Amino acid sequence: MKMSKSPWLLHYDGSSCNGCDIEVLAATTPVYDVERFGVVNTGNPKHADIFLITGGVNDQNKEVVKQLYDQMPDPKVVVAIGICACDGGIFKECYNILGGADKVIPVDIYVPGCAARPEAIIDGVVKAVALLDQKREQMKAAESAEGGAEHD
Ligand code: SF4
Repeated sequence: MKMSKSPWLLHYDGSSCNGCDIEVLAATTPVYDVERFGVVNTGNPKHADIFLITGGVNDQNKEVVKQLYDQMPDPKVVVAIGICACDGGIFKECYNILGGADKVIPVDIYVPGCAARPEAIIDGVVKAVALLDQKREQMKAAESAEGGAEHD
């Protein structure tokens, strides 16, 4: 896989039962070693390129999810980890659950499962890395097209 730079991950637990979060942590530890694909875990959304979110969205966390997303620089990729983050999952019928992460932010990649397995999470991250590179290329092309238009 060709990468122009090492993408940084931001992991946020929406309202998960922590099952998917344990698997995200497992994916980032040496046993599964997602870092072999050049990604690095960060706690700062301003440094992050890939947003890994677990759990459903509710009235209490929807603003937090939006703020984290908005603080990430463009281009960025969102990966919903586990069926709760995909569509609310087993908590979907709860009075306070609005649904999956895509109720408040655009989600690019869905990794279902309850819990999502580390192998599936790694697969989602690898797809996110490829998509991030694509988005970067598209941004560059749009910027140079704009620059060219200004000089016409
Ligand atoms: S998908 Fe399953 S393991 Fe993951 S947060 Fe939801 S209930 Fe927990």
